[in-house]
Amino acid sequence: MSASCGCDVNHTPRLVVLTGGPGAGKTAVLEVLAQHACRHVLLLPEVASILWKGGFPRKDGLPLRRASQRAIVRVQHELQRYAIEEPTTALVVCDRGSLDGLAYWPGTPAEYFDDLDTTEDRELARYASVIHLQSAAREHGYFSTAVRPESAEQAREIDRKILEAWSHHPHRTVIESEPDFLRKLDKALVLLRAQIPACCR
Ligand SMILES: [Zn+2]
Ligand SMILES: [Zn+2]
Repeated sequence: MSASCGCDVNHTPRLVVLTGGPGAGKTAVLEVLAQHACRHVLLLPEVASILWKGGFPRKDGLPLRRASQRAIVRVQHELQRYAIEEPTTALVVCDRGSLDGLAYWPGTPAEYFDDLDTTEDRELARYASVIHLQSAAREHGYFSTAVRPESAEQAREIDRKILEAWSHHPHRTVIESEPDFLRKLDKALVLLRAQIPACCR
């Protein structure tokens, strides 16, 4: 796999979700992938970061929590649609997907899907596979930061909820927290590279 793969095949785009709790290492995985992927692999950014950095309000209260999650899913849908409509796309790697919001949603899953005018099946069907990187345990070097204020325990709790949110996906792989972060990174990269069509490797 290289930046100039020389491939001119007409690909059928596939979406893969990279998810997991805070501090799981998604960013590092995507940075390495970005350095090696050819132009047929599109990496979609994490939408929550775009919204928070762009000034979307962050306050307490149910109406705003619901609005935030709806906004995130709607932007995810539009980014995914653009990625699929690009004629050269073979693989779309999404930094989180539309089921992640269930982990933050202040209501039942049924209310989540109703409010978004979609269904669980429809959202699951968007993605060919899901790779879940578990949040690092405290003993494996988890640390809080300004953009990741959660404690190790809070991070694990969100991680657990995200695991639950994607539990019905038929092709999900969970990469557990382990002391050697590079091994975890490598496992994720092996899985992601396996999703790239042979013509582009
Ligand atoms: Zn390619
Ligand atoms: Zn190709």
